[in-house]
Order: sequence, then C-alpha cells, then structure tokens
Amino acid sequence: MKIISVDSFVLTVPLPKPMALQWQHHKLVVAEIATDEGIRGLGYSLVFGGGGAEAVQVYLDTRLKPVLLGEDPLLVERLWERMFRADMGIKKQGVAAYALSALDIGLWDITGKAAGLPLYKLWGAVSDRIPAYGSGGWSKYSERELVAEAQKYAALGCKYYKMKIHHSDPRENRKRVEAVRRALGEGVRMMVDVNQRLDVLANIRQAQALEDLDLAWYEEPVLADDIAACAEVAHAIKIPVATGENNYTRFEFRELIERRAARYLMPDVCRALGFSETLRIGHLAAAHQVAVAPHVVHELSLQVVGALSNGFLVEFIDWTPPDLFEEMPECKDGCFRVPERPGHGMALAKGAKERYRSG
Ligand SMILES: [Mg+2]
Repeated sequence: MKIISVDSFVLTVPLPKPMALQWQHHKLVVAEIATDEGIRGLGYSLVFGGGGAEAVQVYLDTRLKPVLLGEDPLLVERLWERMFRADMGIKKQGVAAYALSALDIGLWDITGKAAGLPLYKLWGAVSDRIPAYGSGGWSKYSERELVAEAQKYAALGCKYYKMKIHHSDPRENRKRVEAVRRALGEGVRMMVDVNQRLDVLANIRQAQALEDLDLAWYEEPVLADDIAACAEVAHAIKIPVATGENNYTRFEFRELIERRAARYLMPDVCRALGFSETLRIGHLAAAHQVAVAPHVVHELSLQVVGALSNGFLVEFIDWTPPDLFEEMPECKDGCFRVPERPGHGMALAKGAKERYRSG
C-alpha cells in the first residue's frame, strides 16, 4: 500500500454556551490521507481555542507531508521516526507536534481499517467501556452557569467533574468549588485545574485551602516547562497532582515520572505526538504505577485508554456540534463505549468540511 495524497485544511468550529463565554471557537487541523488501495485515513489535531492552527497546517504541508508521500502507511513507527527527525533544528513541540500528531493519527486510522479492527483491539484491548469526567467550569462562568454545567455532566452519570480555579484569591476559588460540591452531593468527586497560573508557593497556599474537599486531583499547578517546580508542588501538597496536557514526548513524561511530579499523567494525543507516542507514554507510566487520563479529544483518546491497564478516565468536554462528526460516542451512565468501527472510528459528517472550513 502506498500513500498517494495528503490533503490538509483547517476547520473553525464555534462553541456552544456557556463555553462560548471563554472561547469563541476551537479549530481542527485536519489531514486526509489517501492510499492507492482506496483506504483513507482521517487525522486531526484539536487546537483548543484555535491559536496557531494555521501555522500547524503550514508545517504539516511543507515539512511532514513530503515525508509520507509514496510510503507504505502501515510502517507507522518508521514514518513517525522520519517525521520526528525531519527537521533536527525544530524541536517537536507546539506547532510541529500538533502537525505530526494529526498525521500519526491518520496513519493509525489507515492501519486499523486495513486490519478491520478498532485501534484499541489492534493494540490489545483491556476494556471497551471507559469512564469519563465532565470538564469545564471556566472562570468566566457565573456560579449559576458553573453549577448548571456540573449538574449536566452528573445527569449523564459522570462520577467526576473538573473545574478551573483561576481567581487570584484562593478563598474565592474555594467558594466556587464548595458551591459545586454542595450541588453535586456525595456521588461525584471533583478535580481542580490551575492551568499553569501559579508559582510553587501560591500553589501550596491554594491547595491547603482545598485539602479537606476530597478532590481527586490538582491539575497543572505551574508552567508546564518547569517540571522541577511541578515536582516541588506534588511533594508539598496533600492532593494528588495531575499534569501533562502541555508536555511532549516520552522523554518529558519520563522526567515527570522520575521526579514524581504527578500521580496522573494527561498526554494529549493531538499534542504529545499522536497515538504512537501516547501509547509509549502510557506503557512507561504503567511501569511506575502512574495512571493515565488523556487530555480532551475523548473521541480519539478512548482508543488509547481502552488499550492501557493503567488508563483511568477520559476528559469529556461536550462541545462538538452534531453536524461536525458522523457519529460522536455517546456518554451513558458516565461511560463511553469505545467505537467498534475499524481504525479510530471517527469520520467528518457530510458537509462538515464545507460548513466549517476556514483555511
Ligand atoms: Mg487542564
């Protein structure tokens, strides 16, 4: 089998309320990979909030697409290595990593379709049903909007809900967490997300103010670049730390693990260099009894968690309009079934490309 074309485009997808209070839209950088045997692979990277999507597309088209054309798509690891080493002067983070991720996801889609298997079974499945946590709770929500969102996920059976703690006063954050906790009751555990906004001391102070609330995790306390600081926070606070959505490659995750900087790792398949590297990160974490809860894109991450014995939860942010994908996995009793269609199982809905295309 040979790759005969790679077509890329950017979709700009408006967000529903209340998320739209925080973000106007997300963007998907999409790559459709065609082969001479008629099998087509869909790859995409979700660019949250949309920033940089156009640059991702240019890097994909100009530097990575030429690596793939004419090659056998089933040699995924070989092609991954070639893409990773295509520009030794550009570290595979950020823009370059989003581009490589989209293509790796597309190559695996072809491989699954060629094998006639969903990816999680191709990789050796552990489960076909994955629990999800509801996620959102952005700072621009009023308390009423925050509680309503949390209750929406609880009504779908989610046993966990995660919200942002972005206020500069730790007591204000506690008040918002308490309000949600009261509304959700005993059946739902909560997580909080700092999104890299604090330094070590401010995190220790913030975490102390939340310690008695039985939180499942305390997320991304410091700048993702500073793994030493993340470890310092993890050792100093009583709530388990989760991080990884802005970390790249098995090498960064190895450092997070070795420094015991987190109990939960959250690689993003669209950032951390695709399914290939996310699986490697997952297996590495398993060797250290660290759990994996991938960041966003649950429709893709389900395949990964379904193949990892140390997979924990997928992150459920309910934002996709019904006319974007042909069939979005459905949350029932707080869980998703991993799609059984060959490959990753996702396809763009008819007309979605025309409707949302911005570049
Ligand atoms: Mg986060």
